[in-house]
Amino acid sequence: MLIATKLAQVMERIEAACGRANRHSAEVNVIAVTKYVTLPRAQEALNNKLLHLGENRWQDAKEKWEQLPLDPTVMVDKPVWHFIGSLQSNKAKDVVGKFDYIHSLDRESLAAAIERRAEQLDIEVPCFIQVNVSEEATKQGVEVEQLSEFIQTLQQYTHIKPIGLMTMAPFEVEPEHTRAVFRKLRQLRDDIQQQSNGMSTITELSMGMSNDFEIAIEEGATWIRLGTILVGEEEE
Ligand SMILES: *Cc1c(COP(=O)(O)O)cnc(C)c1O
Repeated sequence: MLIATKLAQVMERIEAACGRANRHSAEVNVIAVTKYVTLPRAQEALNNKLLHLGENRWQDAKEKWEQLPLDPTVMVDKPVWHFIGSLQSNKAKDVVGKFDYIHSLDRESLAAAIERRAEQLDIEVPCFIQVNVSEEATKQGVEVEQLSEFIQTLQQYTHIKPIGLMTMAPFEVEPEHTRAVFRKLRQLRDDIQQQSNGMSTITELSMGMSNDFEIAIEEGATWIRLGTILVGEEEE
């Protein structure tokens, strides 16, 4: 299916979810997750003005990162790259300077590695702090109880700009449990804002994927990360 067709369907559902939550769809940024698809398919996303592209491994992203846009004379808009996967500290150097946003900052050793590279490049890296809201043993992310301490720790890393919180909900058959996870992430963001008298740079919420983005929007998502439903998988 063409991305244009998928996008029209997704936009309709985004509008409907925004309507239910009294939100404006302009507040919801869409990241097209291209990790499952080929270079031409990622270009097709760009052609449809999906400029925010998400990848979870540098090895898989490399070709797309180097080649897109395929015809720079036609395509004026360059992709904005989001790193959404778990990141080993020794791989931070591959990602920092190439990806515009990192969604998976979840420990101090990684912060230190990002900082080192960002300092060399003299850049500031906007990062989402990944939080383990659902508290599954297998999930990445800072524990909820450790979050404020972790945010304190980040202050020493002057090349990292924490801009929001990110979470992944467990794959649930029961949507109301997913809702509780997203609601909790928003609550954490609101607490951070309140405790800083609105001065904290942590304002964004990266939450919601193909199977749960509508609930995430209803609970306040400002970035949703859509793979399957928006660009599809290779086999389609
Ligand atoms: C793969 C991935 C997505 C997109 O998943 P879909 O269910 O295909 O939409 C979103 N976020 C993260 C962190 C991912 O790894």
